[in-house]
Amino acid sequence: MHHFYQRQQQLQPGMIALTNVPFDDYSSFRRGPAQAPERIWAAFHSDSANTFAEDGTDIKDHPQLLDLGPVPFQDYLDISRHYDALLENDVQVLSFGGDHSVTYPVIKAFAKKYPQLTILQLDAHSDLYDEFEGNRYSHACPFARIMEEGLAKRLVQVGVRTLTTHQREQAARFGVEIHEMKNGLPDKLDLSGPLYLSLDMDVLDPAFAPGISHHEPGGMSVREVLRLIQSIKVPIAGADIVEYNPLRDQDDRTAMVAAKFYREIAAKMLERKGKDSGRM
Ligand code: MN
Ligand code: MN
Repeated sequence: MHHFYQRQQQLQPGMIALTNVPFDDYSSFRRGPAQAPERIWAAFHSDSANTFAEDGTDIKDHPQLLDLGPVPFQDYLDISRHYDALLENDVQVLSFGGDHSVTYPVIKAFAKKYPQLTILQLDAHSDLYDEFEGNRYSHACPFARIMEEGLAKRLVQVGVRTLTTHQREQAARFGVEIHEMKNGLPDKLDLSGPLYLSLDMDVLDPAFAPGISHHEPGGMSVREVLRLIQSIKVPIAGADIVEYNPLRDQDDRTAMVAAKFYREIAAKMLERKGKDSGRM
């Protein structure tokens, strides 16, 4: 039996399942994010840093975290089926991508379980293209698919700095709440739970994270992203860290940032344990 299914049988309600989706077929400019998961894991386990989150939680070997490894999908849309099965276990899911196209099939599964889902997307791009270079599943399109199918009650975007006229029209059509980078970061985000956090590494200024496919100057600092993650007060149903491209990285610097985000998001998802038994 595949490792993924074997480990899945060990899940208990309230646990956090770690998965990865090594898929970059729908990247528009450069391939590479399919190789991200193993590099983020290597950075997380590197002897150069410890495995604690800033709130004092040791993420390594935490009893409520279970790593299932790569999702054994056949093709792009088949990713959903595996998340449907995972969510039946009443667990939260934290995934490493892959390019941002993976978020659409993942959200298809989350939307079935959480009809009131709010998505918080941290990204340089709004990813709202109706189609990109002839592909409606491009990594430039996942949030158009999500919103036109009504898979999220709210979509809140932070860090966006690349809107075209078409994407502004799409945002207006879908009622997307965009905090554009040019207006500064919001002091406080008005979020509602259950929340899905989708973290595109290119939300960061490329000075902090060169290991991404699309360098968009004028982005967030690592600390600004950490502050935002740490300020979340609503229950997190799921999260992903996408678009890390090891082929563009320098000295694994971006992998270390992704590993740090992993520790902080995992700690945030663990924070509510005992308060509400992980239920949304
Ligand atoms: Mn994106
Ligand atoms: Mn992006």
